Amino acid sequence: MTDAATSERVLLEIEAAAEEMIDFAAELIRIPTVNPPGTEYRRCAEAIGDRLATLGFEVEYVEADGRPEHSEAYPRVNVVGSLRGSGSGPCVHLNGHFDVVPPGDGWTVDPFGGELRDGRLYGRGSADMKSGLVAALYAAAAFARAGIEFPGRIEISGTVDEESGGFAGVAHLAEVGRIHRDRTDYVIIPEPFGTLGISLGHRGVYWFKVVARGQIGHGSMPFLGRSAIDDLMAVLARIDKLRPELERLVTSMPVVPALARTGSINVNSILGGQSDADPSLGGPLQTPCVADYAEAVFDRRFIVEESLDDVRGQIGSILTELEREDPERRYELLDLMIVEPTMTPPDSPLVRALARSIRSIVGEEAELVASPGTYDQKHIARIAGVEHCVAYGPGELEQAHQPDESCAVEDIVTSAKVMAAAALELTTG
Ligand SMILES: [Zn+2]
Repeated sequence: MTDAATSERVLLEIEAAAEEMIDFAAELIRIPTVNPPGTEYRRCAEAIGDRLATLGFEVEYVEADGRPEHSEAYPRVNVVGSLRGSGSGPCVHLNGHFDVVPPGDGWTVDPFGGELRDGRLYGRGSADMKSGLVAALYAAAAFARAGIEFPGRIEISGTVDEESGGFAGVAHLAEVGRIHRDRTDYVIIPEPFGTLGISLGHRGVYWFKVVARGQIGHGSMPFLGRSAIDDLMAVLARIDKLRPELERLVTSMPVVPALARTGSINVNSILGGQSDADPSLGGPLQTPCVADYAEAVFDRRFIVEESLDDVRGQIGSILTELEREDPERRYELLDLMIVEPTMTPPDSPLVRALARSIRSIVGEEAELVASPGTYDQKHIARIAGVEHCVAYGPGELEQAHQPDESCAVEDIVTSAKVMAAAALELTTG
């Protein structure tokens, strides 16, 4: 059992490292690991690896060999640090992604400045999720610094590409067995759910494309062609009618915001006919033609109570029905990305340990939530087969991907303490 004095020592180490922690988070924000395309990954992985080595961790670099996106120009480099306890015991793995989305417009501070102002750290990745990664790193480091005895193992990984699906990142670590149920017992991903929020999992994704094919003709005599755009519009109209049906089925998962507790569908893009913006045409040119091609990309999110077969089948039957109504309609359905919903049971020892630590450190009750969008938990659950995985980390979800993204410095320190206290309980039993 963890005695109070031991956990007190660990928490004091985190308190003492507060400034170092914030400096290091700012240092990582200053490395623009923008995805796409995945810039500066090696430099960032090495900055994390060097810090881990200084803090007494064994460090490994795991490159995503064999993945098409792991190129010479944009290498996919992950880093893992481990701290071995005195014997065999449970392994707690803390994982954070260090890629960030592009900054976009509307910033009033340098998105890669790592500026500290009024108790908040600013910059792309400050909330999502370099602060969380650094909090996890110092939570783990406090074990070594406090020189405490524990039988298990504590690991920390910094991974790539979460923002584009995590295939060269966490999925790769799981595929090569670096994170695996045989060696990994508990995983905490410090995504920004705040100092009280424990995310049990996320909804599923069915991302697909519908292609409509028509026949080209003169724009002045549209009746001699077949407009793929008109045929695609029929699909859009039918999918719009699906929305009330999706909103009627409410999940038992505690998804936040509550409006995301149902299935949803978004039209991500539409493309049809000849674009006057097509640079290969050498400028704004147009010819009067009936569009023989149109496509739309859809993002269907589904809840744990729905099955992927049903979700896909729903779209398939809409297309079949439309083709039956008018035999000249021709559609293709292409799967772009599939993620099954995942949820760790609320009574998992990992959830209980975190909730207890939140109660004792923050002084409030934990909030069990689930995420509307997916994150790397899917790979931990599906590929690594680890049953106990949650997200818990500093920052507000609302800050993610926004201009002037920021994270409260105090929350970084608090969540590091919560993660350390929970990890201590889990590794020492
Ligand atoms: Zn994230």
